[in-house]
Amino acid sequence: MTIAAQLYQLQEIDLAIESSEQAVNQIASQLGESKAVTRAQAELALENQRLEELGHQQRSAEWEIDDLVAKLAIAEDKLYSGEIRNPKELTNFQHEVEGLRAKRSQLEDKALAIMEQVELATASVASRSSELKALEVEWRSQQQQLSKDMEQLKTILSELNHKRQQLLAKIDPQAVELYNELNKQKGTAVAKVEQGICCGCRISLPTTDLQRVRSGNLVQCNSCGRILFLA
Ligand SMILES: [Zn+2]
Repeated sequence: MTIAAQLYQLQEIDLAIESSEQAVNQIASQLGESKAVTRAQAELALENQRLEELGHQQRSAEWEIDDLVAKLAIAEDKLYSGEIRNPKELTNFQHEVEGLRAKRSQLEDKALAIMEQVELATASVASRSSELKALEVEWRSQQQQLSKDMEQLKTILSELNHKRQQLLAKIDPQAVELYNELNKQKGTAVAKVEQGICCGCRISLPTTDLQRVRSGNLVQCNSCGRILFLA
């Protein structure tokens, strides 16, 4: 194997390592808390709180009604008992009883409105709960898949690194130094030669360079400086 071929192999491994590392980072950023789940939890908590408040309102409205109904019963008893003989007093008392009845009907309307809100909030809590459950199930299975992918990637990475070490041990250190230098400068150090053209910069190579590459020499492209590799 020519040095250029070894360096090309090294470059392939390095590119594979780079993309695997990117994939690892990508997965790492997706592992952990889910924004959608957190948001759904917060929304459900708010809705539950609202439902609880409505429950308080409902109970206090019911107590108010019970209170008023009891008062009204006493007042009505008194009104129809014939106790009040003074006509003016009787008229006043009748007004008072009518006032209590109007208040009762107002309170009943209020209690009804609260009850409707309680029903709506209860339904909303139920649907949000099931949405949250579905999100959590989806999130858990996604996390499991991500963890599996991560494990696989780590295995691949350690294999690639092992291969890299083995290959490095076989390549002339000076060539490796050149490779590293070019890698830093250009992103890729080795360029394939296809139909007499350097694939790194798309420039036609002089015949003499092509011949030297063919004979297995380490040749750099005149134009971009990359190490030329003829497959
Ligand atoms: Zn070139």
